[in-house]
Amino acid sequence: MKRILDNIINDSRDSANTGKVADYIPELAKANPQALGICVTTLDGKEYYAGDYDTKFTIQSISKVITLMVAILENGAEYVFSKVGMEPTELAFNSITNLETSPQKRPLNPMINAGAIAVTSLLNGKTPEDKINTILNLTRKICENDSITINEEVYRSEKATGNRNRALAYYMKSNGIFDGDIEEILDVYFKACSMEVTCRDLARIGAMLANDGVLISGERIVSRDICRIIKTIMVTCGMYDASGKFAVHIGIPAKSGVGGGIMAAVPRRMGIGLVGPALDSKGNSSGGLKALELLSREFDLSIF
Ligand code: GLU
Repeated sequence: MKRILDNIINDSRDSANTGKVADYIPELAKANPQALGICVTTLDGKEYYAGDYDTKFTIQSISKVITLMVAILENGAEYVFSKVGMEPTELAFNSITNLETSPQKRPLNPMINAGAIAVTSLLNGKTPEDKINTILNLTRKICENDSITINEEVYRSEKATGNRNRALAYYMKSNGIFDGDIEEILDVYFKACSMEVTCRDLARIGAMLANDGVLISGERIVSRDICRIIKTIMVTCGMYDASGKFAVHIGIPAKSGVGGGIMAAVPRRMGIGLVGPALDSKGNSSGGLKALELLSREFDLSIF
């Protein structure tokens, strides 16, 4: 396995070189575009690594999976999906267009920015600190890693420049999609996106989902039904507006983030975490996509 992963990473480095690091959040522009790493965690707890697997990066949109999980645990799926849809989009993750054209002006799904901000507004907790602590603690628990923290520089950088997200939030508020203090909701959202992880952490999240809500240690974190909902939404919406192509070529429930991470869950087989900060035009890690394609082909991982 180790040798196969080494070869896959080596064979994906050229693809990584075709991408570009995200710079619309200035702090993300400091990432190393050449970094490319992978971790595979099988459901019996074995971990395999290759490449720059110890690179730290911010989880970004992969946090949307955790936030959705918390919102469903706290409010139930029916309520959450009365506020946000479950349909894919052909538009970019930060698009405002759908908010005006979609039925009831709801965000289309919880994996795009508008949807995740709406989901964040549903979290229980008296203060923004309570809410981010719930997200952080659940992430630490799933990753079995208490050292996960928020990268303050990335958080501040996004808070200072996140006016597109502010626009989405104000627009939704004007349409009555949610109530509440926008800066407080965004603060929780920005902090969730700024959790710093490695591809091992992502592989653990993937393994928990692959195992229908049970950690490697045997502890159940969420119900099988919540995992089913989340994995389905990952398939249809997790890889931005490239989710359809991803499903055809790779065929694994996955979620990516503009920090260069990809988290993937192969049902009943393994969790996969990848890092490669150089992104393609859709916002997915160029090298990560290539590596996942090669891995999927090698082990016949497509669920379809
Ligand atoms: N924090 C990023 C934003 O709101 C997340 C985007 C992403 O990873 O897709 O723009």
